[in-house]
Amino acid sequence: MVNGNLSGSDVSFNGGAVKACGGCGGRIHDRFLLHAMDRYWHTECLKCSCCQTTLEQLGTCFARSGMILCKNDYMRLFGSGGSCASCGQNIPAHEMVMRVHGNTYHLKCFTCVACNTQLTPGNRYAIINGNIVCEQDYPKVTKAQVGGSSRNSTKIHGMMTKI
Ligand SMILES: [Zn+2]
Ligand SMILES: [Zn+2]
Ligand SMILES: [Zn+2]
Ligand SMILES: [Zn+2]
Repeated sequence: MVNGNLSGSDVSFNGGAVKACGGCGGRIHDRFLLHAMDRYWHTECLKCSCCQTTLEQLGTCFARSGMILCKNDYMRLFGSGGSCASCGQNIPAHEMVMRVHGNTYHLKCFTCVACNTQLTPGNRYAIINGNIVCEQDYPKVTKAQVGGSSRNSTKIHGMMTKI
């Protein structure tokens, strides 16, 4: 991730060299220009690729995948998805996840604790003491644990989503 603090430069301190704008490609004759992402910009040309906010107003910008983004859009698109409720590792942005009961799991981590089958929406499962158990293993696990208080497994409400 490239997180650039915008620095404005006064052209008169730049040795008088005319810079090309990283946005429109035109020369920057304005007295004030912006330096971000190793390029120079007209103040009005450095805009968020998503919401078109002029980034000069915000003071920070983020670059990723060829886009220049304001903080809000950057976080929305690329921010961390938080950590996996199973393995505790961070979930990279843009990875598909399972969201279940407010918890987020790596797809590979949403597996039955007994047989390691990866569960997908449509499978039935239960969560016992925080462990995910598939329908087949549910009777065994509950027998081994609490004597089976409730024998109902739950249909997965979770969705495979992009963060
Ligand atoms: Zn420009
Ligand atoms: Zn934006
Ligand atoms: Zn995980
Ligand atoms: Zn299982």
